[in-house]
Amino acid sequence: MYRIGQEELEAVKRVFESRYLFRIDAPFKEAEQFEKEWAYTIGTKYCLALSGGTNALISALVGMEVGPGDEVIIPSYTFMATGIAVLAVGAIPVVAEIDESLTIDTESIREKISQYTKAIIPVHINGFPCNMDEIIHIAKEHNLMVLEDACQADGGGYNGKRLGSIGDAGTFSFNHFKILSAGEGGALVTDNRNIYERALIYHDGGTAFRPYASELSVPVFTGNQHRISEITGAILRVQHSRLETILYDLRAKKKAIQDSVPLETIPSYDIEGDCGSTICFLFNNESQARVFSEKIGPFGWLPIDSDKHVYKNWTPILNKRGGPSDYFNPYLMKENRGRQMELKSDSCPKSLNLLSRTVCISVKPDWSEQELANISSICIKSAGELS
Ligand SMILES: *Cc1c(COP(=O)(O)O)cnc(C)c1O
Repeated sequence: MYRIGQEELEAVKRVFESRYLFRIDAPFKEAEQFEKEWAYTIGTKYCLALSGGTNALISALVGMEVGPGDEVIIPSYTFMATGIAVLAVGAIPVVAEIDESLTIDTESIREKISQYTKAIIPVHINGFPCNMDEIIHIAKEHNLMVLEDACQADGGGYNGKRLGSIGDAGTFSFNHFKILSAGEGGALVTDNRNIYERALIYHDGGTAFRPYASELSVPVFTGNQHRISEITGAILRVQHSRLETILYDLRAKKKAIQDSVPLETIPSYDIEGDCGSTICFLFNNESQARVFSEKIGPFGWLPIDSDKHVYKNWTPILNKRGGPSDYFNPYLMKENRGRQMELKSDSCPKSLNLLSRTVCISVKPDWSEQELANISSICIKSAGELS
């Protein structure tokens, strides 16, 4: 969470005092308003607010009719939730390499495509826009769906469009660690009416009884419960109003450090759309990266050290424990026989190499000029001591 204050408190108070915290038929329609406002900002026809980013991914895959028998290509470097979402709908996640931008490698996508591939999930990890032109090109060539995981890139852009609006659907997370936050929360955006309706039905077990049920063209099936409350909606509306200033400050601070430190940074597919939340320096080898990281102290981290985000640490997936019981485990479903299931800790050597020779710094939008100058000078000094 970057910024939260009195405005959120007042919005929550208003909802609280209405004594009606459920989104359907609510007096202030906070959740509904948030959806309209977020769809407008992202530039899509539809937005569905959800209780989390993982649920947004699952609902989007349900929307895309991905299920048993399908393979979905995901990157080796992402929060494990991307893979969990694929398994949650009964499909098999196929892990592709990343390139120097730390986002999914499009050559590797091509290598992983099979007759069973149904979708690609490019992940705008750390706020870095993926190579969307090429990904859309590949998807068109092979008739695949594209689901953008923008859970770490709320509000980011690519070629003048917002991340999440480029593929067939996009997802966002508003959990505690994301650019905007309500503690927990998420959203799905799409222009596709079928995806939206199926996700809407899936996200609310009460859909059959809602006032809009008769307007749906998709026959109602049994869903789940991923709705948000009016409290979450109220917080998200205020958070949304902070988006542009947060992004502005993150980008300015990232640029100040990158411009002053004489080290190679990872390439970007759109530095203007980049969220600015993370700076990454690329070194020739891991030992150089570790020396630099130690010199700059607590600011620096190597992506290879992340437990959650590197495929080799996704133990339940490596062990093919893809669900709560054998019956619900996609790795054991007969529909998935012959699918690309083998994931070993050394399956993506290129990714491991890149992630182990990169040092990242998480940018804070509220760093003072003094703090910013200190960080820059520590980086400059440490860079000078390398060799
Ligand atoms: C945070 C995150 C998610 C999941 O979001 P939750 O709100 O925690 O469910 C999915 N994908 C990526 C890349 C994330 O960083």
